[in-house]
Amino acid sequence: MRSLLPSDPDARSGPGEPNPWPEHELETVERCPLCGSRDRRMLYQGLADRVFFCAPGKWTLYRCNACNSGYLDPRPTVESIGRAYASYYTHEPAGGRAQTSIAGRGLRRVLQDNYAASKKAVLNDYLNANYNLELRPTLPWIRWAISASPRRRLNAGMMVRHLVRKRPGARLLDIGCGNGAFIGWARTCGWAAEGLDPDPRAAAAGRARGMPITVGSLPDTGFPEARFSAVTMSHSIEHLHDPAAGLREVCRILEPGGTLWIATPNFASAGHAFFGSDWLALDSPRHLVLFTASSLISTLSATGFVAIRPVRRPPIAEWYFTTSHRVALRDEPFSRDGSELPFGLRLRAVVADWQALLRPTRGEEIIVTAERQQ
Ligand SMILES: [Zn+2]
Repeated sequence: MRSLLPSDPDARSGPGEPNPWPEHELETVERCPLCGSRDRRMLYQGLADRVFFCAPGKWTLYRCNACNSGYLDPRPTVESIGRAYASYYTHEPAGGRAQTSIAGRGLRRVLQDNYAASKKAVLNDYLNANYNLELRPTLPWIRWAISASPRRRLNAGMMVRHLVRKRPGARLLDIGCGNGAFIGWARTCGWAAEGLDPDPRAAAAGRARGMPITVGSLPDTGFPEARFSAVTMSHSIEHLHDPAAGLREVCRILEPGGTLWIATPNFASAGHAFFGSDWLALDSPRHLVLFTASSLISTLSATGFVAIRPVRRPPIAEWYFTTSHRVALRDEPFSRDGSELPFGLRLRAVVADWQALLRPTRGEEIIVTAERQQ
């Protein structure tokens, strides 16, 4: 169910006028799914799937006047939402890069590879020291090369989802894991990592590569209480019909003091303010609820979490601006040879990234860590 990350592959189908979503597979949403308020205003009408071009229907998005989050009304029912994921890309098996022998490459390439391996070993040492991980090989004593660079620190933190492993063998669950790319990396780091995803095809692709993935979704995971030391939700909470019920379940399956890491698009971002109904992360009808930092923090607080902290992430505005610009042009947002961002918009994206560094709650994405109360 993971969506909209810049490292993911292209969408494959073409644009077209959507058919209506079947009437009996819609449900009305008269109250804000986060705060319960009925006070709202209509923000956009006629939204269609202009990201993956596979979901039928036209959609209306409301903004809650009480908590400023966004939500669709009406929306697909829990039973029918699978219809919106027909060509979603986490179905694709993750490909491995073909290996070539050293004999087939020049000396320059070998030196480049050695340099890259050394950089990786320095990064491993930094991550092990700061996040209690077990990455190998390491190149000790020069981890300051990363500590001294704000950009490298941001990138390194993002790689491990800002999670400090409490002990060897600690369990991590990635909810909305797709085909399990993060699970594989987390296991390399030394986590006992597993995944949960509602899509049986994505889960099968991950399992074929040895990833332990359970088919299922929030709020009924079926896991025992306090099983996990950490739970991650990368771009999955906005897909839930009842995010609060989902977070209560996450709280239940986390051990006391366990950490939840969430990343989700920011409804209060500069990109949304600029692109409006063309902002990529509206992604109707897959994104049912769109959060602001404060509505996410309030929901976490109301569902049993403490120590709730927004986290800075590496710059990403250019990616959101580029894909949203293509949505505005009715182009395929993830095409490798799609329209480039004009200079003026690129400049705006740079400004948006600087603003996000100063105020993470205004960035294109919200990233928050929180703990289950001890
Ligand atoms: Zn609300």
